[in-house]
Formats: sequence, structure tokens, C-alpha cells
Amino acid sequence: MKGDIRKALDYLNANQVRATYSAVQSYLGFGPFDKVDWQEILGPPRQYTSWVVNKKTGLPDGYKPAEMHPDLMASEEIIGKSKLLLAAIKEFKGRPEEEQSATASPKVEVADCHGNNAAVMCPHCNKAYLISGFLNKGVRSCPHCGKSKAVFQDVKAEWEASHENDIIESDQFSTRMIFKKEWLGYDVWVTFTEDDTTYRYPHDQLLQTFISRLSIIEGTKSWDQDGVYHFPRISGEQKKMLKRYITEVRDVPVATQAAETGFELPEIKTAKKAKHLED
Ligand SMILES: [Zn+2]
Repeated sequence: MKGDIRKALDYLNANQVRATYSAVQSYLGFGPFDKVDWQEILGPPRQYTSWVVNKKTGLPDGYKPAEMHPDLMASEEIIGKSKLLLAAIKEFKGRPEEEQSATASPKVEVADCHGNNAAVMCPHCNKAYLISGFLNKGVRSCPHCGKSKAVFQDVKAEWEASHENDIIESDQFSTRMIFKKEWLGYDVWVTFTEDDTTYRYPHDQLLQTFISRLSIIEGTKSWDQDGVYHFPRISGEQKKMLKRYITEVRDVPVATQAAETGFELPEIKTAKKAKHLED
């Protein structure tokens, strides 16, 4: 039977006890030689997941001190056997109904997450409710039935873990002018420098202009199959079209003796001033 990571973490948190990666790996139903993506299973490092530790160090791998639970070392015990973990979690689940905290009940489903707000679905009444990272320390019970509880940190972590590949940064930096299909619709602005000029252009808008006015890009193998089209150098006409997106023009250094030899005149320290200070 495949274990539930959420139940395991709830148990470890509630009992303030650590468990080894290998014990959790086996509890989750993986073989000892399976390659386990802990980032995918646990999400980003945070206190809630810090109870899963390296057998040798007793600490979670790659966590910063602030990401570890302050009581991580409170108990010396580390559960190193999946059988023990499984039995303990079973017993934990078997506690009387009234003793169970809302966090141990079926977890809320994340519907959307934006900035410090998220929308979740209550697993009991199937109604949606909002949760904010700013209000009530980021914890909210279902306003409809009160039976579920959402913790913003966990909701956000779960959302980010499952949407990691969907997030497109709106500020992109490139070594040359480039269009990418995966950037379409994300209001992406691309910054690149050619020679002494730095440009920052609105990706979708400029792509449209380029396609309609220059009749390039569309129909090429690079764009149609790979979804990428870039310009090793921009032409004179393209430069004109990009003119209004220039953000910086670096001054071409004047060929002075200093520039050529690297010799600079030392700063002149006036003796008068020094004397004046001593007085
Ligand atoms: Zn509810």
C-alpha cells in the first residue's frame, strides 16, 4: 500500500519526531533503489517538511536554518524503519474523532494561488473559500462548514510545486533578440544588448509587428517546430522598429591616452587641506 506523505508529515509534526528519507521513501511505496524526487514530494524547504532527515546528519538535506522546525532536535529519536513509521501513522490516524485536529482531515484542494491569496476547495462541503497569507497568520477554517482548515504556506507550496513549469517570468533576459512560443500570453518583456545599445521590448506585441510587417518567422522550421526564433544580429530595418524600446546606449569611450594605456592621473591631494585638518 502506498503511504500518504501528508499523513506522514502531519504525524511527524504532531509528535515532533524526525524520520529518515529512506524510511519515508519505503513508507511511500518506493523501492530502496528508486530515484526519489524529494523536491516534488515535499515541495520547497519549510518547517513542516523539515522532519524528514538524512540518516547521517539528522537534518534535512539542503535546508537553511530558518526552514527547519525550531523543535527539530527536541527529541533524539529518528524513525529509521518504514514499518515503525507505518505503524505509528496508523495509530495516529486511529485516534478518536474529537482528538483529531482539522489538519489531519482530508486536505483542501488548491484551486488558485496568486501573490498572497489563494482559493481552496473544502473537502467536506465542496465549497470554495479564500485564504490570505496576511490574515490570521495565514490559517483559515472553512467558513461554510468549519470542518476543513487551510494553511497558506502549505497551500502556496503545493501550488508552486505543481505549477513550477507553468510560471513564466515576465522579465526575460537574452543575449540577442528572440521570440519564444512559450512566452506568448505572459506579458513578457525581453531585455538584450547588441553592441552598445540595450533594448527592452514587449515580446508579444513586437512579434506581431515582425510577422505582419516583415513576413518572417512564421513558416520557418525554427518557429513552427521548435517554437523559437532568434536574430544573431538585427538588421537596419529591425533596428528602426526597435528604436522606441531602447533603454540604454552606452557611451563609446573616447580614445584618450588614458583609455589606451590604462594610466590614470593620481588624485591630487592638497597638502594645504591636510594641514588644515590637523589644525
Ligand atoms: Zn467546508
